[in-house]
Amino acid sequence: MSGGTAWDTALSQLDDAARIMNLEPGVLEVLRAPRRALQVAVPVRMDDGSVRVFTGFRVHHNTSRGPSKGGIRYHPMVTLDEVKALAMWMTWKCAVVGIPYGGAKGGVVIDPKSLSMGELERLTRRYASEILPLIGPERDIPAPDLGTNEQVMAWIMDTYSTREGFSVPGVVTGKPVAIGGSKGRSHATARGGMDITLATLKHLGMPVEDARVVVQGFGNVGGGTVDLLAEQGCKIVAVSDESGGGYNPEGLSPQGLLAHRDRDGGLTGFEGGEAVTNAELLELPCDVLIPAAIEGQLTEENADRVRTSVIVEAANGPTTPQADVVFEDRGIRVVPDILANAGGVTVSYFEWVQDLQAYYWDEDEVNDRLRKIMETSYVDVLDLAQDQKVSMRMAATILGVGRVAEAHRTRGLYP
Ligand code: NAD
Repeated sequence: MSGGTAWDTALSQLDDAARIMNLEPGVLEVLRAPRRALQVAVPVRMDDGSVRVFTGFRVHHNTSRGPSKGGIRYHPMVTLDEVKALAMWMTWKCAVVGIPYGGAKGGVVIDPKSLSMGELERLTRRYASEILPLIGPERDIPAPDLGTNEQVMAWIMDTYSTREGFSVPGVVTGKPVAIGGSKGRSHATARGGMDITLATLKHLGMPVEDARVVVQGFGNVGGGTVDLLAEQGCKIVAVSDESGGGYNPEGLSPQGLLAHRDRDGGLTGFEGGEAVTNAELLELPCDVLIPAAIEGQLTEENADRVRTSVIVEAANGPTTPQADVVFEDRGIRVVPDILANAGGVTVSYFEWVQDLQAYYWDEDEVNDRLRKIMETSYVDVLDLAQDQKVSMRMAATILGVGRVAEAHRTRGLYP
């Protein structure tokens, strides 16, 4: 990734916010350091009888505002530094939307598509066992992220519950509804991103109808975003996954994309549009560009060639600090990840609350509560950006860091 690692990006964002906020050096030092980071070996018996050992991580960045919360990523490029960055972003994100959690993240260095279902289950259960001392409903609550899904969460819930001797649904979120998942969770990140996109277009006086949208990534978040924004009347002009994507200035059919992916396992060769690479996709003309895949996609190398008015960061960390500077100079509005994709953790919070109370809400209630939180958070960030004449990213970081620093100061330093 150009411009340093995700951890460099996360630290530089924190340092910049701390400077503007005049944060006390002692508090900054505490917030720069993850509270705890565990690396584990995950031995797995493969289908052919051999044993392979994979590397996994779980990082708690901060727990001043409550138990830590954050997804688990299965990806071949996972590193401890990446997991630390993602955990720090979770801390600010939970604070920005005002939910009572600190930040965490986990990961296993693996391409999940290279495993059979049985291997994936054994890997997940062993990884869950290895991080058991760190997780629990009052301690740290994992959720899905890149390369994991509700089935993986179900195995983690079952592994934890088996060890406890009773069912503990609140140990993970993003579970299937059948075992205590929340209605609306599977689309929550995309729905929250939609709420934020609509609020941004309204604020900038741009029409929603036929707004040209480009989405990078066609998984849980990207796929949901395509569906929901098309439903709102936006024109989805380009979509990609890791194999490449399709572009059609007249609009792509969400159903056609889904059918193609389900049939061929990816978007390569999609008939409804002209083939584009991921690099080309990011530079297509559009009104809203939504990176929904991985970090470090918008960099100083391509920022000058990006042709959009608005970037809504559905992915975590898709923009490097150098690219942020270019976008600010060019007047491109960047709605940062810690606001734009906070819908997932917000409904994860609702799921945890429902699990703890063993009382479940209907989907309209989930979506209404989500919309209120997203809209309020958008206004909080926008007001701060306008008051302090800073970017939306800086405003969101100042808001998040400020709330965490306040909790830290109020609790005091032990001993
Ligand atoms: P996913 O595994 O369901 O989908 C990821 C998509 O990105 C897939 O279509 C994949 O093909 C594509 N992709 C992977 N590598 C790529 C590359 N190099 N170039 C282009 N595309 C690539 O993952 P997801 O849950 O949709 O997560 C996507 C992003 O959203 C991640 O940054 C994640 O951290 C973030 N996020 C997810 C959630 C959630 O609730 N799942 C919440 C907040 C943020």
